[in-house]
Formats: sequence, structure tokens, C-alpha cells
Amino acid sequence: MNIILLGAPGSGKGTMAQKLTGELKIPQISTGDIFRKNLKEETPLGLQIKDILNSGGLVPDEITIQIVRDRLAEPDCADGYILDGFPRSIVQAEALDKFQHIDCAINLDVDKQTIVARLSGRRFCPDCSGTFHVSSLADASVCPVCGGKLITRKDDSEETVLERLRVYESTTLPLIEYYEQRGKLITVNGTGGVEAVYRRILDVLHK
Ligand code: AMP
Repeated sequence: MNIILLGAPGSGKGTMAQKLTGELKIPQISTGDIFRKNLKEETPLGLQIKDILNSGGLVPDEITIQIVRDRLAEPDCADGYILDGFPRSIVQAEALDKFQHIDCAINLDVDKQTIVARLSGRRFCPDCSGTFHVSSLADASVCPVCGGKLITRKDDSEETVLERLRVYESTTLPLIEYYEQRGKLITVNGTGGVEAVYRRILDVLHK
């Protein structure tokens, strides 16, 4: 199954994609993770996109589309994948439709107030790429999975969060209509605990 996870930053796409990947045995393809890895390793791409990521803007479509196209052509995607953070614009969605068949786009519906609270309490582990919320951590500086040192992502700072939400509303939100018109949109209530949201997703996927 080829699945897209749609939703605002902080709607839980990454968390849900991680859980689904274990259950469905298909890879999670996160463009955000790919870009952050390049940033960390200071690759030519990483240096090129550094300022964009840190300011909360979007990496140009042509770069992003090419990266996803190459990644989806790898053998582990042959039986399906979960796209997390792509597409983020109509141009990206149209390009994707030209080289892949998409089964459904799951839209995680979360109100703005919850999103800002989630993002401002979010901590990231650069070692294992795990994402956690301070409310669930005994020690807000230590990764509960690998023991790495947790950080606040630069793009989770208040100013950048507001910019990312602005970009989401202007550029990514129209994708809801895009997939609705094609009969592929499934909207799931993304508020509440992780397990509750995950159950809702499994329920709609089993239908
Ligand atoms: P994420 O972890 O999905 O929130 O992505 C982090 C950052 O990576 C975003 O704020 C963008 O700067 C960049 N990014 C991720 N996915 C895309 C995409 N599909 N198109 C453009 N930029 C992206």
C-alpha cells in the first residue's frame, strides 16, 4: 500500500508513520529526516538547504521531488511505503502522481492550539531520530530509546513554528482538497493520545 500522511507540522505524522511502518512492514519515507541527515552530515545538499530548514521555509520543489523519486525507486519501497512530509505542495503532488500510484492520503486533523503546544514541547534525538514530548519524559534531556542527548530542533523555536504553520496553511493545506477530489482523502481526528489516534488510523485502513 502506498500511503501519504498529511497534516500540519506537529500533527503527529512522524509518530504515526513510525508505528505504521512496524505494523505494515513498509518503510517510512520522511523528507524532513532526509534533509536533517544531510544537514547533520554537512553534505552539499545539507549546506544548500541549511538556511531554509532553520527558517521554516520549504526546500525547492525540484530538489525535493528528485530526492523522493530516487528514494521510492529503491527496492524496499516495492511493496509500499508511508510518505511523511511529502508532498507539501500541489506541484509536488502532481509530480508524485506522474511517477507513483497513491492508494490513500490520511489527513491528521489537529487544531492550531494543540499543534503549538505539541511543537514547543517537542524534543528530538539526533542519534536515533526519535521524537518525544517533554510531558512523557522522566528526564527531558535524555533519549528514552537510545540514551542520546535530546535537543529542541532549531525549527521548533517559536518564531520558526509560526512560520512553518503559515507555510503549511498557504502551500500544503490545498492538498486536502487535491486528494479529496481524487477520492483518496481519509481524515482522522489527530487529537488525544498516541494510541487512540493510531487505533483510528488502523480502523480506517482496515475498512
Ligand atoms: P518535517 O520534519 O517534515 O517537519 O520537515 C522539516 C523541514 O524540512 C520543513 O520545515 C522543510 O523545511 C523541509 N521539508 C520537509 N519536507 C519537505 C517537502 N516535502 N518540501 C519542501 N520542504 C520540505
